[in-house]
Amino acid sequence: MSSKEKIINLVESKKDFFAKVNDDVWATPELGFLEFESAKTLMKALDDQGFKVEKGLAGIETAFKGTWGSGKPVISFLGEFDALPSLSQEASCNVKKPVEEGGNGHGCGHCNLGAGSMAAATALKEYMEENNLPGTVVYFGCPAEESGCGKTFMAREGVFDDVDIALTWHPGSTNSVWGMSSLANIVVFFHFKGVTAHAAAVPHLGRSALDAAELMNVGVNFLREHVIPEARMHYAFTEVGGGAPNVVQDRATVLYYIRAPKTEQVMDIFPRVVKCAEGAAHMTETELTVEIKTALSDYIPNDVVSRAMSDAMLEIGPIEFSDEAKAFAKEMYKSLTEADLKSGIGSLAGNMPMEEAVKRVHEAIIPDVFPYKRLNYAMPGSTDVGDVSYVVPTAQLSAATAIIGTPGHSWQQTAQSKSVLAHEGTNYAAKVMALTGVKFLENPELIVKAREELNAVTGGVYNCPIPKDVKPQP
Ligand SMILES: [Zn+2]
Repeated sequence: MSSKEKIINLVESKKDFFAKVNDDVWATPELGFLEFESAKTLMKALDDQGFKVEKGLAGIETAFKGTWGSGKPVISFLGEFDALPSLSQEASCNVKKPVEEGGNGHGCGHCNLGAGSMAAATALKEYMEENNLPGTVVYFGCPAEESGCGKTFMAREGVFDDVDIALTWHPGSTNSVWGMSSLANIVVFFHFKGVTAHAAAVPHLGRSALDAAELMNVGVNFLREHVIPEARMHYAFTEVGGGAPNVVQDRATVLYYIRAPKTEQVMDIFPRVVKCAEGAAHMTETELTVEIKTALSDYIPNDVVSRAMSDAMLEIGPIEFSDEAKAFAKEMYKSLTEADLKSGIGSLAGNMPMEEAVKRVHEAIIPDVFPYKRLNYAMPGSTDVGDVSYVVPTAQLSAATAIIGTPGHSWQQTAQSKSVLAHEGTNYAAKVMALTGVKFLENPELIVKAREELNAVTGGVYNCPIPKDVKPQP
């Protein structure tokens, strides 16, 4: 039997177990650093599968790992499991119907991500057991991808330092290996403190924190013209100092995301944004406190690892979706708007001619495999996998667990995260990742090459963008 067939059989033999792990995590949607139930489910599953479980990594209660084996090489799999606010939705349902009004939901499919990476780790462990292969398999339970950058804190504390290869994935609508980078990001609160006063009777005694926050944003909006065009600066008011116009607001907070293709570029722009805040505080005679919440680095696709992953995907071939999955996809398709279909066409057009993409978007599920292409641009988003990729040669794939055109962070995604389609796509991702692991065991020279490639890019240096004194916060 070929290694491919062995891996397929190993993953298939546990598919019901990991489908249940997925569904259990789906049923307890928790936000970043608060994923206590989900972490418990995943740690129990690791224990059931014969991994040694350690929790509280990097001082984070919901960060954990499962280890099997000993010595080199160390092949790791990254799992996520955090949910998103306000995306509660009934499973496998094609109309918007929250389970709990305003509740959390797995609108980014991280329940799939956590379960699928663990299925891959388990299959690789069993393959090594059956074939008496030396080495270590590690599953990392990484919390708070959406808002807290759990992996960045873990990387800062050296959690990934002894790892040779990191493999991960993200639920998506097509099967391919990520060839693009992602945006580095720093997440910062700007708190302004002023003096309250009756806004009509004694306005001259008040110093408005809200005015300061507004003036800061005006400054940043002028700054936009003078930063690199790829940079993104977005803000939200998280504190406006109350709802009464007749009371001078003595407190206001603006939360900023400052993003750019490289961490150094973010770090160049950040002090300039601080200057806008300082200027605003000066103008309004208010006090400013700058509080970094978190940060993350850009993602560096490792060509050696990504090609091995792409080869594994091509070897396994397209997903053979069941009739049940195809029927479900047809039902979900009815929920898509014209705009959703347009964005589906956009994502397909990267891999096929436009005329074909325009036609195929209506097929809803796309089982094809698109081979790895290294692209020299950053996807318009961020992921804390970036920080792992600075420390360990890393690859991540996308597998079709949802229909093409499914909007990111949406109720449709929550609905599909617990569905026959997600189970089959997750199972597929597990096979590809486990077979990728086998390739590194069988060709140890690839591990050396992957490390050489990473060192050539980073010089072997990783500067964590989160300062040492910043602690993880939900
Ligand atoms: Zn995600």
